[in-house]
Order: sequence, then C-alpha cells, then structure tokens
Amino acid sequence: MRQRAARDQKRLDSGQVTNPKDLENLQSEIASLARRQGDLEDVVLEVMERHEAATERAAELAQRVEAVEAKTEDAVARRDAALQEIDAEAGTVRGERESAAGSVPADLLKLYEKIREQQGGVGAARLFQRRCEGCQLELNITELNEVRQAPQDAVLRCENCRRVLVRTPESGL
Ligand SMILES: [Zn+2]
Repeated sequence: MRQRAARDQKRLDSGQVTNPKDLENLQSEIASLARRQGDLEDVVLEVMERHEAATERAAELAQRVEAVEAKTEDAVARRDAALQEIDAEAGTVRGERESAAGSVPADLLKLYEKIREQQGGVGAARLFQRRCEGCQLELNITELNEVRQAPQDAVLRCENCRRVLVRTPESGL
C-alpha cells in the first residue's frame, strides 16, 4: 500500500498527469491510501500491545507452574519420609506385640483375638477409676464388687462391651 501511494505520488509530482479529472482521482486515491495506512498502523499497534500482554501472562503462568511443581516435590518428599517412619514404627510395634503375645496363655489369646475382631481392633481395655476404657462406661456397684472379689489371675470381662478388663492400681477398686 505504501508502494502504491509512493507510485501515485511520483506520478503526481512528475507532472505527467495533466488532465484535471485524473489529477483529482490521483489525489483522492493518495488521501484514501493514507487513511487506510493510518487505520492499519492502529491495528498493528493494538496487536503488538496484546502480544506483549499475552507474553507477560505466559511468563507469569510459567512461574506459577514452577512454584506448584516445587511444592508438589516437597510434599512428595515429606510423604515418603513419613511413610518410612510409619513403616519403621509398625515394625517395632509388631515385634513388641509378638513378644507380648508369647507370654499370654493360648486360650486367653484366642479369646482376645475374637473380641478384638468384634470390637473394632481393641480386645482388652484398662479398668481406670471404675470405668471401662473400651466403651467408657462406669461399672455399677454389683459389677465392681464382682471385680473386687475375683482372684488376681481371673479373666474379667466388661458387662457392656465384653472386652477383657485389665486391672491396675488405678482401677478405683
Ligand atoms: Zn466396656
């Protein structure tokens, strides 16, 4: 378009065009071309501005992706460390349980396992200040008297949740 305008201008300047009508047409075309060039320049400016904004936004998003990736990496590392700790602890507890189970009579261990299965993983509970720590219910007077009179090696059960009750000096008897 610029070339065409320059060519028109050259023809106009050369003085070759002498017909007034042709001269008028040429001048009008040059003016029209100048207007269109101005419009196109505005469009180019707008496109450049939008391109710049888009580039900035892309850089911003890339930075955020990087930050999220770093956070994810950190979380995965912490999860792995925690899993390792839990595994180690589970191993220790399993070993302790095995050695404790070895000193319990077989029939009592069988009973304990049965209750444990029925009671969500806890087969025995401490009797603490007259309360069964398995179901949290306080024993009534009759139950307490039975516990008091029971021999030291008797296996006692909670009347409410049926767990094995473990007596300690803090049982409140
Ligand atoms: Zn109970």
